[in-house]
Amino acid sequence: AVPGSSADRDNSMGINLNNDEQLRALAKQVDAIEADWRAMPLVPGASTSGAQVPVTNPADRRQVVGRWQSSDAGTIERALCNAVEAQPGWDATPVDTRAAMLERAADLLEARMPQYIAMCTREAGKTIPDGVAEVREAVDFLRYYAGEARKLFVPDPLPGPTGETNTLQHAGRGVFACISPWNFPLAIFVGQVAAALAAGNSVLAKPAEQTNLVGFAAVKLLHEAGIPDKVLQFLPGDGATVGAALTSDPRVSGVVFTGSNATALAINRALAARDGAIGVLIAETGGQNALIADSSALPEQLVKDALASAFTSAGQRCSAARVLFVQDDIADHVIDMLTGAMAELKVGDPALLSTDVGPVIDEDALRMLEAHAERMAGEARLIAQAAMDDDTAHGTYFAPRAWELQSLSQLKRENFGPALHVIRWKGEELDAVIDAINSTGYGLTLGIHSRIDDTVERIAARARVGNVYVNRNQIGAVVGVQPFGGQRLSGTGPKAGGPHYLPRFATEKTVTINT
Ligand code: NAD
Repeated sequence: AVPGSSADRDNSMGINLNNDEQLRALAKQVDAIEADWRAMPLVPGASTSGAQVPVTNPADRRQVVGRWQSSDAGTIERALCNAVEAQPGWDATPVDTRAAMLERAADLLEARMPQYIAMCTREAGKTIPDGVAEVREAVDFLRYYAGEARKLFVPDPLPGPTGETNTLQHAGRGVFACISPWNFPLAIFVGQVAAALAAGNSVLAKPAEQTNLVGFAAVKLLHEAGIPDKVLQFLPGDGATVGAALTSDPRVSGVVFTGSNATALAINRALAARDGAIGVLIAETGGQNALIADSSALPEQLVKDALASAFTSAGQRCSAARVLFVQDDIADHVIDMLTGAMAELKVGDPALLSTDVGPVIDEDALRMLEAHAERMAGEARLIAQAAMDDDTAHGTYFAPRAWELQSLSQLKRENFGPALHVIRWKGEELDAVIDAINSTGYGLTLGIHSRIDDTVERIAARARVGNVYVNRNQIGAVVGVQPFGGQRLSGTGPKAGGPHYLPRFATEKTVTINT
């Protein structure tokens, strides 16, 4: 790392969420920020003339917080030409220069935290603590990939016979399409872009349709930090048109995608159907994440962690717990405590510090959750349903709910919101429980609550998942500390925020010299 640069520091400190005074001061700053944001394609040489689409606040749909403009076919074509033209120069830029730009972006983002929190709150319905975590994670990704690039992009001497030197050299693959979801509109968006740039690729960044404003502001900041405007371009628009145009173009060498499993499969097919190009796909998708608790679990801790895992960010985290398997000896007690704890949840305006659970992202998400609730009404027992504040009438809110199920097979798909399902199990059924979880095909996170080491080891060894959390909540992976990502239907790997991520964005060249 360059002495004195931000890469010398550990993970971003953000602010202390237990310090009321600091938190109140931050909320005041966030509140004072005026919401009148814009997003449009950032493509040198292109002129976009589309309609300006209003963006409304998920907490109150009457409130317009900005406007965005989609990319048209001409803009996409111009962006592809620019990206191809700019990539070799970027790849030839010394890694220290590239990394320093990302670190400068991290410093800028940290300094402007309130502005980005305000955007995450009003465009994506994030609570203020979620907004803090979002900015911190984005900052961490920028610094982490900058640091990793400094290690990777130096020729690596290999052993060889006398009279010969062998080195392994890394370079960018070419043009990368970065396609991100709305649920981490800043952290995942910036993480993908930072990794692709750090590795010497030019980038076409496509944010989710729901969160163009945050993505636009992030790209502007990266440009300000020094990333050339043809090296990083911004292409807002629908997945089915703009996203598909990128993934089907042979000039795109790689796609890094985070989102639903169905979209990952569609992108995989699009890449495979291209003539004359083999592309890489790095995909992180959804899960049917379980939390297994045996009778040695501490009920208070279990309920606190289950609540955090299922309902933080209104359950709109890929890592969120969807199913709590609780051993029958403690099940009644745990369900009672869960019911009590859910009655205390504050569901309402995410801009208020008192709020635990904010809105879901949009009407489509709400409709899907309501349809799920309707189905559950016919085949499961409702354990608890949180109350909603009066101020939720104009937003897309879904009251957090927990149901008791008989079997995991009652859940056909990922329910992306504040919906928890509880299933009882008997001591002799542990392996069958793990096998049922594995048989969903997903493999993202798994929580374990047990004080018995053998049980913890047995579950962790048998479960085919990417991230296991023991006696804590199962959300909020920290960059560089808990590399994150799943296996099988949940993703291709390598893990974001881990040491094997960056090499996937790079080519390898072995140079052998007869001396
Ligand atoms: P989504 O798949 O609907 O959309 C994700 C992105 O893909 C968007 O930018 C969208 O425009 C784009 N897209 C859609 N169709 C496309 C196509 N045919 N070609 C190219 N791009 C296309 O997902 P979402 O609803 O935005 O996000 C929620 C999902 O993301 C959940 O399943 C969640 O579990 C998952 N997720 C996973 C992780 C992880 O790290 N594993 C993290 C966050 C979210």
